[in-house]
Amino acid sequence: QNTSYRNFPMVPRVVFGQGSFNQLGDILLPKRLNSEAPFIFLIDDFFEKRELVGRIPMMFNDEVIFVSAEEEPKTAQVDALVKRIKETFEELPSGIIGIGGGTLLDLAKAVAILLNNKGKAQDYQGWDLVGKPSLYHVGIPTISGTGAEVSRTTVLLGPEKKLGINSDFTTYDQVILDPDLTITVPKEQWFYTGMDCFIHCIESLNGTYLNAFSQSYGEKALELCEEVFLQDVPIMESRDKLMMASWHGGMSIAYSQVGIAHAMSYGLSYLLGIKHGIGNCLVFQHLEEFYPEGVRLFKKMLEKHKILLPKGVCSNLTQNDFDILVNVALGMEALWENALGKEWKNIMTPERLQELYQKI
Ligand code: NAD
Ligand code: ZN
Repeated sequence: QNTSYRNFPMVPRVVFGQGSFNQLGDILLPKRLNSEAPFIFLIDDFFEKRELVGRIPMMFNDEVIFVSAEEEPKTAQVDALVKRIKETFEELPSGIIGIGGGTLLDLAKAVAILLNNKGKAQDYQGWDLVGKPSLYHVGIPTISGTGAEVSRTTVLLGPEKKLGINSDFTTYDQVILDPDLTITVPKEQWFYTGMDCFIHCIESLNGTYLNAFSQSYGEKALELCEEVFLQDVPIMESRDKLMMASWHGGMSIAYSQVGIAHAMSYGLSYLLGIKHGIGNCLVFQHLEEFYPEGVRLFKKMLEKHKILLPKGVCSNLTQNDFDILVNVALGMEALWENALGKEWKNIMTPERLQELYQKI
């Protein structure tokens, strides 16, 4: 009998609704420490010349920093942002606001942690290594799927590993869910990031770690994904639903784990810089022996939206490359145990895993 259950934090405040971004100024006002302590807005540079910039509630010496989401967030990038903010301002900021996809949401979480904790971002990659609370931080997703807006981790690529800063202080203090912010997302990206959510559900619901808590969120998220990607829901409703699917998908894995597609996608990201959403899709299409029903639905979704996944991604890799992929993936022990049970090492051998990579 396991008597020690995890006591994990949730986002304490959330606004949901089309146009709710306009409430940001009112939300931040009581959180301003003084006129010298700015709010720092970290924004996906897609928005640099867009009307959203004019709606940011700037006051006093607040600063907007545009960040490219071309590459996934890195520990060195977090350190550089923290240094820049500390050098620019005499006081610590009142808070950090992250506006964008999983990349920007994760960056803003990490910057908020490192502004209040000494050392480098890489020192905190792992579980519960953060000693002091982070600065007040607000997350505003502009694309739906990762669940980074609810999760207690921020996934960073460090010098030695791709690993999250998992801590009670990572979770956002406030989230604003405004589905209108996702209007400009290109179709393929909508699909790839949306499939991250779908795969979170499949991996959580088919995992050995499943419990009623995770199941209740996972089933809801899966139902919403099926509506969005397989039925003909009106577009405004569809944006609302996918945003809530992302939220529930994130909640589902909080109390369980992801699985094989995520473990393998981490390898692709580490070695080849392939981004999370598309990486998951590249792997998941070949996992029918592990997730038969999920892969069947996934292929229907690909077809319905006429998405053509790249081919031959691993065709020119050396044995040394495959060794790296396999090592990174097999290093994610909890994911394999969730997917295949305690005896997972007997089921997923390095040889079998390499064969899966060779199909991609
Ligand atoms: P992303 O943030 O990298 O964005 C993908 C692309 O969409 C970028 O080019 C970006 O500029 C663009 N974009 C974003 N919003 C847009 C908009 N409204 N209009 C037009 N373009 C827009 O992608 P993502 O899939 O959201 O996030 C992937 C990242 O999330 C990875 O780094 C992954 O590790 C991380 N992640 C984190 C968690 C977590 O719990 N912390 C969970 C899953 C994934
Ligand atoms: Zn994911």
